[in-house]
Amino acid sequence: GEGGTCPGQAKEPIDKRGVGRFVAVGSGKGGVGKSTTTALLAVAMARRGCRVGILDADVTGPSIPKLLGIRDPLVGTVAGMIPPASAKLGIRVMSVNLLLDDPAKPVVWRGPLIANLLKQFWNDVEWGNLDYLFVDLPPGTADAPLTVMQSLPLDGMVLVTSPQGLAELIVEKACHMAGMLDVPLLGVVENMSFVRCPGCGQELDLFGPSHVAKLTERFSMPLLGRFPVDPTLALLCDSGRVEDYGEAERLEDLASALEASLA
Ligand code: ADP
Repeated sequence: GEGGTCPGQAKEPIDKRGVGRFVAVGSGKGGVGKSTTTALLAVAMARRGCRVGILDADVTGPSIPKLLGIRDPLVGTVAGMIPPASAKLGIRVMSVNLLLDDPAKPVVWRGPLIANLLKQFWNDVEWGNLDYLFVDLPPGTADAPLTVMQSLPLDGMVLVTSPQGLAELIVEKACHMAGMLDVPLLGVVENMSFVRCPGCGQELDLFGPSHVAKLTERFSMPLLGRFPVDPTLALLCDSGRVEDYGEAERLEDLASALEASLA
């Protein structure tokens, strides 16, 4: 219909400007480690020498600047806002938290205002030439993630789940959302999927056998990686040093899997 937003409607192509790959990161629900995974994906690609940015669209919990230790105030020019960069790998970040006087206060704006702000995060931000721009979506399948996905020229979406969450239909809902919006599913990252015994190094499935194979089969997408419940990672996140994540091989594998899925 006129001015309608039917998800099945053909999209006007949105100019990707200087961005090579535009990848959304979503989840069926909050708390599965979506933001942490977004940051790890960015770190993985930046360690390969790629130019990387993160558009933090999770206004319910805008945690990307904190994960990467970014506290710089925003710099604006006539042309637009310049996203500050992380100290080590130069990952560019735009987040509502960079606009707030007190990042501890919740964002209480209503939907349309937030939708406009997120459009500005794409239109009015000088992202420059990037190989990868990741979008940390709001969790779930409500209006907010939908609006974000419709306003950006996405190449695909990565889905983050945890073993507890996988038992629920909510993950499949997120997959169907991507399908309805014609956004290709690039694959799944299973977070907090096992625990490593500090004594013997054995990997233990805390939540029973994983259901992720069923999901990847049903939606014909790859498993891009698995991350253990890791107190060191939690500590790095809390102290803004996710760039120092030590499991280099795990991140290399994640980067290769994402590249392969986008090829
Ligand atoms: P979401 O974006 O899905 O709401 P976050 O990425 O903010 O989730 O993660 C929620 C909390 O869980 C954070 O405190 C984060 O540090 C922690 N966390 C995420 N992944 C792991 C992990 N693999 N091991 C340990 N803690 C984790």
